[in-house]
Amino acid sequence: MAHNKAFLDVAVSVCPYCGTPYADASWYVIELGSDVECGMCGRTWNPKTFKVDRILLEFVLDDDGNVLEVIKEKHVE
Ligand SMILES: [Zn+2]
Repeated sequence: MAHNKAFLDVAVSVCPYCGTPYADASWYVIELGSDVECGMCGRTWNPKTFKVDRILLEFVLDDDGNVLEVIKEKHVE
């Protein structure tokens, strides 16, 4: 049975005001670079400035496209 794979590039950032961590798609955080409003403290900050990690997630799919497993593929610089 052949498994299919899908990938998601994720950036992890931390709110500089209250320390709440967030994981968002890297295209949104790094390429768009727009400000976000923290869901916990309500203050506005830029996740690109406070990015702490970026990883590539691998989604292992069954023949119908359902996700069987998520693997931390690698760190992205
Ligand atoms: Zn916050």
